[in-house]
Amino acid sequence: MSRPTTDPSPPAALHRDTLALRTAVERSQHGEHSEALYLSSGFVQPSAAAAARRFAGEEEGYTYGRSGNPTVTSFEQRLAALEGSQAALATASGMAAFTLVCFALLKAGDHVVYSQSMFGSTLKLIGAEFARFGVASTCVPQTDLAAWRQAMRPETRLLLAETPTNPLTEVCDIAALAELAHKAGAWLAVDNCLATPALQRPLEFGADLVLHSGTKYLDGQGRVMAGAVCASAELIHQRLLPVQKNTGMVLSPFNAWVVLKGLETLSLRLRAQSAQALALAQWLQTHPAVARVHYPGLPTHPQHALAMRQMDGCGGAVLSFELHASSAEQARARAFHVLDALQVLSLCTNLGDTKTLCAHPASTSHGKLSEAQRQAAGIGQGLIRVAVGLEHMPDIEADLLRGLDTLDAL
Ligand SMILES: *Cc1c(COP(=O)(O)O)cnc(C)c1O
Repeated sequence: MSRPTTDPSPPAALHRDTLALRTAVERSQHGEHSEALYLSSGFVQPSAAAAARRFAGEEEGYTYGRSGNPTVTSFEQRLAALEGSQAALATASGMAAFTLVCFALLKAGDHVVYSQSMFGSTLKLIGAEFARFGVASTCVPQTDLAAWRQAMRPETRLLLAETPTNPLTEVCDIAALAELAHKAGAWLAVDNCLATPALQRPLEFGADLVLHSGTKYLDGQGRVMAGAVCASAELIHQRLLPVQKNTGMVLSPFNAWVVLKGLETLSLRLRAQSAQALALAQWLQTHPAVARVHYPGLPTHPQHALAMRQMDGCGGAVLSFELHASSAEQARARAFHVLDALQVLSLCTNLGDTKTLCAHPASTSHGKLSEAQRQAAGIGQGLIRVAVGLEHMPDIEADLLRGLDTLDAL
C-alpha cells in the first residue's frame, strides 16, 4: 500500500463530535492549527529506494496525486471516523463514488437490485450506463421489502438504496435490506446523503458500503463538488482503490480541504437544520393551501417510527409538501406561483446548504419522466421540495406565505 491508510487515527473512545474536529493526518513541521491544504500533484521521494518501496506497496508515502494526497487522506479519515467505517475513499463527486463502486464490484452478468426512488443520475447509471456493459438490474419500490426479496436472483451482487429519499423522504429499513443482501451473498450500499453520519450510520445497521455526495451536507455551504465511499479496509484497499487509481475518479485537494472543514460543523448543522425542518413541516401542515407534508419527523409519515430509530430521533433537513389543486395544470401553476413569490429563499435544485433551497421536482429533477412515470413515482405537479437552512424561522415562513396566501388570486 503506497498511500497511508484511512483507518481513524485518534483514540477510538472519543465521541463522533470530537472526531469530527480532531481526525486528520498529522500536523506538518510548521505546526499549523487548521489542517494544511497540500495543493501538489506530485511528491518528492526521500530516496530512490524509498520510491521503489512505495511503488511496490511496501512502504506508506505519497507519490502522485491520483494515488493519494494528505489533505484528501484527512477528509477520508475524518469521514470514516464519523461513519464508523474502517476506511473511506474520496471521489470527485457523488456520482463518481457510485461509478467507482459499480466498476469495482460489478462485471457483465451480474445483477443489481435498486430503489426506484433513488437520485436520478443513480437510476440512469445502473439502468442505462452499466446495462451497456452487461450488468442487469431490477428497480423496486423503495419501501416494499417483499418486492426487494422477489427481485433477488442467483447472480445478484449488489443492493442499492437511499434513505431518506429526495423529494418524498421515503425511508427504507437498512437492517432488513442488509439481511436480504447477505443471505444472497450480495453487498448492500446505502446513499447516506440526506441523513449524513451526523444522524444515521448505515454500517451500524449492517450495510457494507456508504455512499456520499460530499457536495451536499458534508460541505454544507454549497461551495464544492465532492463524493466518498465508506466501507471495510478490505473493500476499500483491495477492491476500490486499485480501480480509482486506474480510472482517476479522485477528489481535488482543494475540494477535500473545503469538505474536511465542513465536517467540523456537520453535527451542529444537521441537528439545527433538522429542528428547523420539523418546525416548518408542522407549520405547513396547518396551512389551508397545503394538502400533505412529507417529512420523516412527523408522526403522520408512513415510516416515522423506523426513521426515528435509524436517524437518531431526527427527521433530517429535507421536506416536501403538496398543494391542494383540482387538476395537474392548476397544481403546477400554484406551485410556480409559490416559488416565484419567494424573495428570500432560493429557487435551486441543489440541497445541503445552510441557505434554504426550494425546488419544483416535477419540472426539474423529475422533468424528463413521462406524466405516468411521475405519477407512479408520486411526484405531482403541486409538489414543492424544501431543503431547510438556517435562516430565522419566521422569515422562512413569511417568504413562503407570500405565495401560499395569494393562491386564490391566480
Ligand atoms: C446530489 C446527490 C447525488 C449525486 O452527487 P453529486 O455530488 O451531485 O455527483 C447522489 N445522491 C443524492 C441523494 C444526491 O442528492
